[in-house]
Amino acid sequence: MLKGRTAVITGSGRGIGKAIALKLAANGANIVINDIPSSDYADETCEEIKALGVDAIVVKGDVRKKDDVEALISAAIEKFGKIDIFVNNAGITRDGLMIRMNEEDWDLVMDINLKGSFNCIKAVARPMMKQRSGSIINIASIVGVMGNAGQANYVASKAGLIGLTKTTAKEFASRGIRCNAVAPGFIRSAMTDVLTDEVKQQYFNAIPLGKFGETDNIADVVVFLASDMSKYVTGQTINVDGGLVM
Ligand code: NAP
Repeated sequence: MLKGRTAVITGSGRGIGKAIALKLAANGANIVINDIPSSDYADETCEEIKALGVDAIVVKGDVRKKDDVEALISAAIEKFGKIDIFVNNAGITRDGLMIRMNEEDWDLVMDINLKGSFNCIKAVARPMMKQRSGSIINIASIVGVMGNAGQANYVASKAGLIGLTKTTAKEFASRGIRCNAVAPGFIRSAMTDVLTDEVKQQYFNAIPLGKFGETDNIADVVVFLASDMSKYVTGQTINVDGGLVM
């Protein structure tokens, strides 16, 4: 379905980003793995992707840094000639009740989750505008839709990302570029492993489908949004959460 296309996925050494990279590759796309310079997982993930029969490279860099993002886009174009699919997946949490949340944790989460995505969209929009096509997919979160006590920074960054998705869709639609968001619910990954059993149980009780999500559940929807199957879909946020928000 994606044979010959090029996909760049930020923060894709592990977790949801890795699952997205593997599934886009399984559908034929060549892959650019991005992760922070200290990532222990990116090279191994790259080898797993190559084993699927597509080409892949690792370009390490921090999405907060404009120079790193420019270097990521340049390396992808140099290797593959174009970027068809860009997934803003890199994200972190620094949870705490607002009354105790310090400025450093607020800034860090906003810088990676929201400004990092802005940096990437700005940089990838140029080559996509030239080729008059592209699909940008932002990994938001259902808490950006419903709010969540103890995650003011994270919620604000993800709600901002949903707004950024709609604006990107409107600004670039005439150039053939689509932009959509996926809002995961509770997905089993390093990010959710650290939550207490009590919090996990609360989520579990609220999920109508009666199970936690897997990283592949997010990757399946990203493949849809990356492909021509969704060619008349832009500016949307698709919740992938077992029915948690409806
Ligand atoms: P994860 O396992 O912690 O993966 C996040 C990835 O982003 C890691 O590979 C991490 O690198 C990388 N990263 C962190 N800061 C970066 C930076 N500044 N520049 C480039 N890469 C960076 O978490 P995940 O669960 O897969 O989350 C992926 C995305 O899904 C995030 O945007 C998250 O907010 C969103 N999400 C997750 C859930 C869930 O239930 N898991 C729910 C809703 C939304 P290192 O591994 O080296 O730290």
